[in-house]
Amino acid sequence: MIIDLNAIKRSGKTEESFFFEYDADIEIALPDAELLEPVSVQGTVFIAGNTAEVEGEIVYTLKGSCTRCLADTEKTYAVEFSESFGEGEYPIVNGKIDLTKPVDDIIIMNTPVAFLCRDDCKGLCPECGKNLNEGECKCNNKDGR
Ligand SMILES: [Zn+2]
Ligand SMILES: [Zn+2]
Repeated sequence: MIIDLNAIKRSGKTEESFFFEYDADIEIALPDAELLEPVSVQGTVFIAGNTAEVEGEIVYTLKGSCTRCLADTEKTYAVEFSESFGEGEYPIVNGKIDLTKPVDDIIIMNTPVAFLCRDDCKGLCPECGKNLNEGECKCNNKDGR
């Protein structure tokens, strides 16, 4: 996901919008879910002197099993971001910036700690294993959350 800042400058502009779809090559910290391809990234780059500011939104989908009830789950996340280039962590190289590393970092940082089929998933009964989203079981398990 390379953006050529020099080309934008040559066209007399200081900002330009972009849209990328890319196949993220990252390991997310959820054992039962994987990142689906492609990840889409859109936004605007603003050039100011020797630095550039990128603002945009990353949209990605995780697919896997619910952490609590193990049901097949697919969820799409949208993460807003803004990142600076040229100073700090992400460089400008030969007048170009590459969004891949910062976007990878943001996806990893925003990985949910629990991957749930729905926010109020009741999970499985620890006694009989019944999926409590489908109804109560016969176990006396009143302290369950
Ligand atoms: Zn669930
Ligand atoms: Zn039960």
